[in-house]
Parts: sequence; structure tokens; C-alpha cells
Amino acid sequence: MLYTAENDPELGTWLRHNADSKSPFIRTLVEAAKLASPGEYTALQRALRRFRASDPEPDSSVHTLVTDAYKVVFNEQKELDHLDVAFTRFNASVFDNAFPETKIRYASSIVSQEEPGWPIGLFALPDDPVTYRAPSQFRLDVPHIFIAEKLSGVAPVDEWVLLHEMCHYKVPNHGPDFIAQVKQALDATGWRTLIGSF
Ligand SMILES: [Zn+2]
Repeated sequence: MLYTAENDPELGTWLRHNADSKSPFIRTLVEAAKLASPGEYTALQRALRRFRASDPEPDSSVHTLVTDAYKVVFNEQKELDHLDVAFTRFNASVFDNAFPETKIRYASSIVSQEEPGWPIGLFALPDDPVTYRAPSQFRLDVPHIFIAEKLSGVAPVDEWVLLHEMCHYKVPNHGPDFIAQVKQALDATGWRTLIGSF
């Protein structure tokens, strides 16, 4: 479904919050978004998400998660999509339905100490080490798999990243055991993940 600035469930609150922003640039952007047709607005959403991620509205569903190993900016709000379906499928065919309850969320930014560059996925656990913890710091309730927002709807790569991150439940690093786990997962899914369903 195509939204406009008036009825966008994801960005509407942020737009209203910034209608009188101190920044003339943001103010103008919000005004333009309000004038946009549904098609134009859809094209704008990606840029709006970026600005929202760097300056979310109060009580926003956009969270910043910081641990010793990584920093992720992600949107807690997500409609059920095909990745949730894929998760259930992989859980059954690869993990004998033993995977713990895990939320799949899109991240506008993932920075990892262990992986230089910009990772496109991350498997995060509630008890991942945090040495310096601020009192109001955001914490996870259950395991999360973060997928780079730019991969949203990019099949089959999004499912491939999801499966890769699910394999980290068994093997945290990228050593030979991990490759064996990925191979086993691909065997169990008939390698369809790599080439897409047909
Ligand atoms: Zn990995």
C-alpha cells in the first residue's frame, strides 16, 4: 500500500514532530513531503527514514543499541513480512524448530567492531557484553536479527542474509565450523535461498 505524509504509520509522527523544526532544511523537507503524491512520497520515504534515524522523535520506535561489539540503529516497528515467513521456514527445515523466539528488524545503520565496513546483517543477543552502561541505555528483550534497511524487499539476498545470521545462533564466528553450518543450512533448504524460489 502506498502512503502519504498524512497517513504514514511509520513516519507520520516524526513528520508532525518536525513540522516546526528549528532546521529550515528539515522544515522544508516536511512541507514538501506533505505536498507529495503517494508515488512521490514513496520515493521520499527512504530519505525521510535516514533523517529520522539520526534524529528520532521522542518515544520513537527507532532505537540505538550499543554494545562492546556493535552499534545498531533500527526501527522496532515492523509489519509482518516475508522474512518472518522465511524465519519460520528456516527454523523448521534447518534448526528442528529449536531456534529461540527472535525478532527480525530493519536497521538503518550497523557498525561492528569485529567486521570492518558496513555489515548487512547482525545477530544480537540480550546479554551481549556492555562494559560501560548508561542508566537509560536501550536493551533488547529477546534475540534480534538485524537486516540492513537497504535490503528490504531485495529477494533473495534478504533471505540469504537472514539464513546467514540464523547460522550464527550455532556458530558466532566465521570459521570452518560456520561454513559447515551454512552448507548444512543450504542443503536443508535445497539451495533455493541462494537462487530464489521458482
Ligand atoms: Zn556473519
